[in-house]
Amino acid sequence: MKYFEGLCPRCRSPESHFRLHGTYYRKCDDTRWRRFRCMNCQHTFSQATGHPYCWSRRRDLHEVLPFEVGSAKALRRIGLQYRAARSTVLRAVERVARYLEPILAQQLANNMACGEIYFDEVEDFIHTRWKPVSIAMAIAADRSILGLRLAEIPVRGRHSARARAKYGRRPDQRASARMELAKYVQPALKVDVTIKSDKHPAYASLWRKVMPEADHQQFKGRRARRDGYDELKVGGFDPLFVFNHTAAMLRDNIKVLSRKSWCTAKSLRGLERVMIIYQYYHNNYLVPPLPT
Ligand SMILES: [Zn+2]
Repeated sequence: MKYFEGLCPRCRSPESHFRLHGTYYRKCDDTRWRRFRCMNCQHTFSQATGHPYCWSRRRDLHEVLPFEVGSAKALRRIGLQYRAARSTVLRAVERVARYLEPILAQQLANNMACGEIYFDEVEDFIHTRWKPVSIAMAIAADRSILGLRLAEIPVRGRHSARARAKYGRRPDQRASARMELAKYVQPALKVDVTIKSDKHPAYASLWRKVMPEADHQQFKGRRARRDGYDELKVGGFDPLFVFNHTAAMLRDNIKVLSRKSWCTAKSLRGLERVMIIYQYYHNNYLVPPLPT
């Protein structure tokens, strides 16, 4: 296994210029790794050079993070359980997210020709309710999360004037986040894909632009049920149940998204990393049918 794409990390010479340069022992996971020297620039490097986990001594954390983050555990509690400092867990989250992002993109590319998707947004906040964010998601009919994008949004409602005085005016990044997400999932969709969403006026023009041939069906939004994490709706059959149920799973399985919790996300980028890790866990462990 190599992570430097067969090219010298410094001068991009091809593999024919490499000579073997001994090995080294990695203590944290008891493995031995080969080193190379580039005959063009004399730079030395190893099989592990360029890997997102390079230089990490807490590979045990990288292994357990998707399971723990996807099982409603706070990052500080993960640190307590695995005897790691808070900053170590944060660094591990960053590395794992960086490692999983291309894997998710690859899985999306393999999952060609989706015939039906659900598209909507979930609202949450960073640090306090006065700093709301929106999470745009595209969900396939088999419940896997195709992609998600986070956006800062302006505060609304009763205390919005006080919130603006305290934290300043917030930009509305929703339109660009939605467009970015639509373009990200677009290659994995059938030309005549069925897109189901609520009656948000911006969704119609967005999908007309990105997927002009698509059959876009919009359904009237409904009041939230008292149970169901404010995501499941009242009444009988819900045409957007796939999205709403996945949103409820997010609320149940990600600690910082849970309702009435003491635990809050501290930064947009941090929340994004947790969401990437959860997306991987959701698509690969929660959604596929359990073995019987
Ligand atoms: Zn070189």
